[in-house]
Parts: sequence; structure tokens; C-alpha cells
Amino acid sequence: MQYISTRDNSKKISSAEAIARGISSEGGLFVPESFPKYDGVTFEALMLMDYKGRAKKVIGDYLTDFTAEEIADCVDKAYTEEKFGTSNPAPISIVNHGDKKLCLLELFHGPTCAFKDMALQILPHLLTYSLKKTADGKKAVILVATSGDTGKAALEGFAGVKDTEIVVFYPSDGVSPMQKHQMDTTLGDNVNVCAIRGNFDDAQTGVKKIFTTDEIIKKLENNNMMFSSANSINWGRLLPQIVYYISAYCDMVNAGEIKLGDKINITVPTGNFGNILAAYFAKQMGLPVNKLICASNSNNVLTDFISTGTYDKNRKFITTVSPSMDILVSSNLERLLYLLGGRDDSLDKTYMSALNNEGKYTVNEAVKNAVQADFCGGCCSEDETIRTISSLYNDTGYLCDTHTAVAVNVYEKYVEETGDKTPNIIASTASPYKFSRAVLSAVVGEEITESDEFAIVDRLSALTNTEIPAPLEATRTMEDRFKNLISVDEMPQYVVNSLEL
Ligand SMILES: *Cc1c(COP(=O)(O)O)cnc(C)c1O
Repeated sequence: MQYISTRDNSKKISSAEAIARGISSEGGLFVPESFPKYDGVTFEALMLMDYKGRAKKVIGDYLTDFTAEEIADCVDKAYTEEKFGTSNPAPISIVNHGDKKLCLLELFHGPTCAFKDMALQILPHLLTYSLKKTADGKKAVILVATSGDTGKAALEGFAGVKDTEIVVFYPSDGVSPMQKHQMDTTLGDNVNVCAIRGNFDDAQTGVKKIFTTDEIIKKLENNNMMFSSANSINWGRLLPQIVYYISAYCDMVNAGEIKLGDKINITVPTGNFGNILAAYFAKQMGLPVNKLICASNSNNVLTDFISTGTYDKNRKFITTVSPSMDILVSSNLERLLYLLGGRDDSLDKTYMSALNNEGKYTVNEAVKNAVQADFCGGCCSEDETIRTISSLYNDTGYLCDTHTAVAVNVYEKYVEETGDKTPNIIASTASPYKFSRAVLSAVVGEEITESDEFAIVDRLSALTNTEIPAPLEATRTMEDRFKNLISVDEMPQYVVNSLEL
């Protein structure tokens, strides 16, 4: 299986190269040249397997330049019971909310309590094998600028992984107290965490500059190292996400919720369009999917795009209680447009350069119709998010986080509007304890005045009689290891010092 750049069809590379490079040199994203096709017989076999077995099958069908032993090694290291607390890292909880059945695919049982663990626990292992195949065993240096969830998930994924170093920069005032504490307490000899004065964009700009600074690249080369990236445009982050949609379907059939071959809908709280794109890829492989429901918060640029065919980021950025979805440029949408445009690289380039120059583009009628055939979009206000958390909790006792609440709300409105009764899976992307302040305030119906994060966590746990996730509890008494606060100009020197270049 070869991988092709969305902006240049002549660029065809192996899966190991796609993972090692992350992004194509002209700015395109790598997509598989075709999709493996699964029929009823394949699904019957998958239904008999556990999560790891399913992951080995799906990942193996895409990474054809890896041996079966290599894939098995990566999967076995990633989805351990120790790290996910259960033998199934992606279980489904079913609750009846009013007249609607909610099948919540819980993707937050990993070490950082957000769904990004599902990919970032395995990516480091895929990456080290990829580098062995393509870059002669060079040590990979992962640079990350983060607004919260990605940074900690990447740190936990790479901590202690041989032949890797990771450096994470976060804006000192741009992450939640829990997220900051989670990052600053990360253990491991190969991890480095640093706060910067500025916002997320400043951190991101600083990182991009370091990536292309010749002096630093030379120093890395002299030390047998190279830069690599762990952000969500890397194929190695998208691929592991396909697995849990296929696995969830098998679990639904095994549980008697649906029959093999029955269609389902999938609702995903969306930011960068990575998670929902993985569901679309599963559909391309033969997963019986009717509609993919793309749920946005008040930053509803995707809702507008799906209904009008015009993507327009020229609008106010809104800070919400579901911050991991506060995003105006959904990078992974480019992969969908490329595929729906008939793998036309020049058409894709036209859209992307319009986005770059004018901040917007309108897709042609064929692409728009293709988008609408597979996707529905919906959005949810802040007020609706909070009311959804409280009504779901009060009616069913199920406590969900702010991002999942957006998906629940959008799904319920979709059913009201369309009458579509197709069984539906909702991606539940974070533990409510990661966003305790907003969740507690929804449950008690008033502002939260406590300033100490663990005081809020304790109150939420006592009130709702739910358990504080072990990985968050473990950081309660941990000292912050990393206390650096630097300016953006000092970022290159921080990298040089921490890597001892
Ligand atoms: C990253 C994130 C999302 C958005 O996922 P995308 O793949 O970027 O669309 C949703 N919820 C949570 C909790 C996240 O961390």
C-alpha cells in the first residue's frame, strides 16, 4: 500500500515514510492509494477477536511494509490493561435519554483521560519502526505546541520510548490548571516541558520556526537525530482511530444491539476533523454506515460548510467550555476534499490556496453533493452544552464531559429534525473530570467559586458518586517537575539545552 500527497499525485511513498515525514514537503497530507475492503466474512472474523486482535488486523492492512511481528509489538505495547484500566480500551456505555438510545463509545480510558491517547499511545512505536526503515535508526525529536490535550497525550505516549525525545511548549495562560499540572508532572528521562509567555499561536509559530532553523537541524544531524511530528495530520495518528469504529460495530453486534450488516450512524464532536475522518475511512472499508454526524460547538465553521459548501474561517474565534474543539481551520478536511474531488490534486490545491489567501473557499457542486451524501453537520451553544450535561445526568445518572455533551445535543436535535432512527454511536472523547469546573457547574446549576482544581474534582466525585480517574488522582500529590517560563525568543535555546546539542 502506497501513500499519495493530496497536493501532488506524483508523490507516492511507503507507509513508513508517510509516518516518519508526517506531512509532504509541498504541504499536502498523505492518504492511502486505496482502502482495504471488509465484507461480512471479515467482520465475522473480527467479531471473534479482542480489541488488540482487531487493531492488528486493521493496522496491518494499511502498513504493508511492516511485518506482522512489528505491528503486533506496537499494538501490544500500546493497549495494555495497565494503561487503559480495562481489556477493552474503547468500551460502549448505553443509556436511554428520554426516547433516545445513546450508545457512547468511551475513548477516554487511557493515561491522559482524552481520546487522543487511542492514537498517541501507539504512534511512538509506529514511528520508531518507521524511522528504522527510512532513516537509519536516527533518534526522533518530537516538537509539540499544545493548547492542552495533545501535549499531555504526546508526553505520555513518548515518555520512556527508546530513541525518542519529546519537547512540549504550552502557553502559560492558555491551558486549564489540570492540563498544566498533568504536563508539568510527567515522568521520564526523554521528556521536556516548558511554558511560554504568549498564546497558543505564539507557541505554534515558535515551534514551526525551530523546525526550519538550519543551525538546529545541523546540530541534530551531528547528534544522529531528526525532527518529527506527532500532530493530527500524521497518518500514524489517524490510522489507529479507524480501529475503534470497526471494533465498536463488532461489539454492538456481539451485544445483540444490531445485526451484522445493519447500518449505523456515527456522531463525533469535531475540531480538527481527524476523529470523524477516521469514521469515514471505516465506511470506505465497508463498515455499514448511513450518516456521519459532525458536531461542532459555537465555532461552527464545519456546520456551515456541510450545509452550504463554503468553508469560511473569517469569523470570530470563540472560547468555549469544550476548548479542544475551538478551532477554525480543520486541517484533516483536506483529505476528505481530495478523496471526494476524485483524487484531483490540482482541485485540492485550488481550495487550499484560497483558504490560505482569502480564508475561504467554495467547493464545486459534485464535491458538495458528495459531502452531503455522507455527512450531516450540527452545532451547539454554550448554554445547550451545559443543559445537556445536566439533563443527561439528572435523567440517567450518566456524567459526560463538555465535548461529548456537544455530540449528544447535536445527535438529539438531528433525530428530532429528521426522524432518522438508525442506531447511532456517539464518540465520547474525554473524561468529565478533565473539565471538572464546567461539568460541576452544570450539575449544581451555579457558578463554581473554588479555585483549587482538586477541590472541584472532589466535590464532583462526592456529589455524583463517580470515581476520579486513576491517572488524574495520581497527579494530586505529585510535585511539578517542570517550572520553566520563557519568552518565545528563548524557545530555540531551550531545545538546544534540553537535547544537549
Ligand atoms: C481533540 C479533541 C476533539 C476533536 O477531535 P478532532 O479529531 O480534532 O476533530 C474532541 N474532543 C476532545 C476531548 C479532544 O481532545
